[in-house]
Amino acid sequence: MKRKERWWMYDRYDNGRNLRPEFLRGVDEFIEFCKANPESPGLDEVRCPCPKCKNRRMHDADTVKVHVYKKGFIPDYYDWYSHGEELPRSAHEPSNPYREMIFDALGNNSEPSNVEEPSGMDEEPNPQAKVFLDLLKASEEPLYEGSSMSVLEMASRIVSLKCEYNLPHRCVDAFASLVKEAIPNNNNMSNTFYDTKKILEGLELPHERIHACPKGCMLFWRTDAHLDRCTVCDSDRYKRTSKGSLVPMKVLIYFPITPRLQRLYATKNVAEEMTWHAKNPRAEDKMAHPSDSEAWKHLDRSFDEFASEPRNVRLGLCTDGFGPHGKFGGQYSCWPVILTPYNLPPSMCMKKPFMFLIVARSWS
Ligand SMILES: [Zn+2]
Ligand SMILES: [Zn+2]
Repeated sequence: MKRKERWWMYDRYDNGRNLRPEFLRGVDEFIEFCKANPESPGLDEVRCPCPKCKNRRMHDADTVKVHVYKKGFIPDYYDWYSHGEELPRSAHEPSNPYREMIFDALGNNSEPSNVEEPSGMDEEPNPQAKVFLDLLKASEEPLYEGSSMSVLEMASRIVSLKCEYNLPHRCVDAFASLVKEAIPNNNNMSNTFYDTKKILEGLELPHERIHACPKGCMLFWRTDAHLDRCTVCDSDRYKRTSKGSLVPMKVLIYFPITPRLQRLYATKNVAEEMTWHAKNPRAEDKMAHPSDSEAWKHLDRSFDEFASEPRNVRLGLCTDGFGPHGKFGGQYSCWPVILTPYNLPPSMCMKKPFMFLIVARSWS
């Protein structure tokens, strides 16, 4: 372990909040190491280990230095394995975050080794087990022989890029087939976005599309699901497109919260954090979390039975009229409603993975 000699990586400042000379020297040493071990011959860019670039982006050495001076290194990066340094022998098999993602998502508590492979040649696993086994296979299967990237990792990253930049399907199709052409034959790369998404099928959380009155009076749901006019303002539920097909005037997308909450409790370290609010190490006179507030304490006093179980979920509801699709919002106009689980510590409860979108209204 290089933890001892590389303590400087996580101790950048001296008491006067100046960068320590050991840190500056260490960073120089790091850059020298990178230059001596380029990823490909002649490449003089360096993979940036700052918490923002996370070893995913490359910059020239000076930019990387500035990033690291300002933000430090990603946590626990004592071994520079993304920069070509060998992991110490004692470190067992590098963990596969995509495999962990499957276990998190499907809430399977058994260890990977306990997963029952279907026994017997003609015995088919049940549909749920099949989804699980297919995903596990995709997390192990390399994109092509000798590749360190798995089929599942590739698919997850393509879908994530598509969302991040709101890429059109056809654009993803084109890039997917370009990549397929560029990598060795006999690969497992999908040709289209459709096939890519299929690999991730079992990981999705459910959502429901519910038609709504265009003026927002009612939902065409449950006992009203069959109606085609609003019972309040008589607006039409559907309109006819120029091609003659019927489309709903307005759709509300509902993301059921139960499976999302279950997913929080399916992950061990997140489940532990869900009782954080009860152990909250308060600092006097400081408000860092809703559980420091008088309103929270009032709630505890008023509902002592609810309060006595710290695992009970406390949600904050917020909404605003902004476009969640960012600057590429395009034709959509949305009004999201977001839930925040306030059981979690301040560092987690406002982070994206732990907030749920429960409703998004959209109309065309
Ligand atoms: Zn960086
Ligand atoms: Zn109406």
